Amino acid sequence: MNTYNTSQSPTRVKDRSRRGFLKLFTGGVAASVFGGGVVGGALTYWSGSQNAAPHPLVNATSLLPLTVTTSGGMHIHHIQTGYVAVKRAHRSYEGRDGTGIAAIITDRGWTQWMPISAWVIEHPEGVIVIDTGETSRVISDIDYFNCDPGTNFVYTSFLRFALQPDDEILPQMQQLGIKSAEVRWVVQTHLHSDHMGGLPGFKDSEIIVSELDYSASTGPLPCRYPEWLSPTFSRFDDGSFPGFEHVMQLTRAADVFIVPTPGHSPGHQSVMLVEEDVTYFFAGDASFDECQMLSGGTAGIASQPAVMRQSLSAIRTYAQSTPTIHLPSHDHESRDRLQNRSTVQI
Ligand SMILES: [Zn+2]
Repeated sequence: MNTYNTSQSPTRVKDRSRRGFLKLFTGGVAASVFGGGVVGGALTYWSGSQNAAPHPLVNATSLLPLTVTTSGGMHIHHIQTGYVAVKRAHRSYEGRDGTGIAAIITDRGWTQWMPISAWVIEHPEGVIVIDTGETSRVISDIDYFNCDPGTNFVYTSFLRFALQPDDEILPQMQQLGIKSAEVRWVVQTHLHSDHMGGLPGFKDSEIIVSELDYSASTGPLPCRYPEWLSPTFSRFDDGSFPGFEHVMQLTRAADVFIVPTPGHSPGHQSVMLVEEDVTYFFAGDASFDECQMLSGGTAGIASQPAVMRQSLSAIRTYAQSTPTIHLPSHDHESRDRLQNRSTVQI
């Protein structure tokens, strides 16, 4: 597993070897704005100012897969496919009066590195993967986002990535002894790059996505969908839970459900594993962290901020009715919450 150097100045980080040092993606527009370039054949990140750079919080152990066993005897694995940083204005985007994008563009400050999470549930009916994380091609292939001019600017200007090939979901699943061919379902909470980068590795699985997101003109990266992709669209017509009038039942055992949590993207969805004592709520980017969910703030370039707040309200309603372990993709605390079985306190 990769280790990262945490002591280097955040102002300039050089890639000096295949392992042990942080590679940062700048690419395209961002490279020219911030001065990224190629030095000695390796990608180099160069920031224009100390404040413009994200502070690396990475350490050697944070990338190891984490496995817990539920009271029902299932294994849940947290797999971290590297890190992403966004502009501060992006993280708390309100989208009011069309000024949100301008605020992001002019903001020179970056958030701390946030984990990019994927989840694997070893369910008796088959392995379930929730989001497939990011691909290291966002760093190794400078043209990765260029195939979609509509979203290229956003990905290369508003986001930074840090990961290497070993951080991708497939090598980490291999470490866990799980082959992609064993995966029965892949549920994509949404189709932003950092959630679907590993999708090409799951040719034998049923891929479940939101039809709204699949047909969205911006945000997803259709040019990077695998050629074989013929997804199942989620349908919410299987009954209800507190906060959610309509859900989709995934398993015959009626313990895994997909629930609509739109707003971050038009068709954003979350996954619930419901056990007798607790519910594991895989929240994708419904919020960037639990504080945002509790306060009703909006995360990312929310396509519909008001709808997003309604989704967060629905999650709170559910969590008030049932002990819930809340697991947003980019929350530093998600991993500990899973390990310690920490439930939402409202
Ligand atoms: Zn997203």
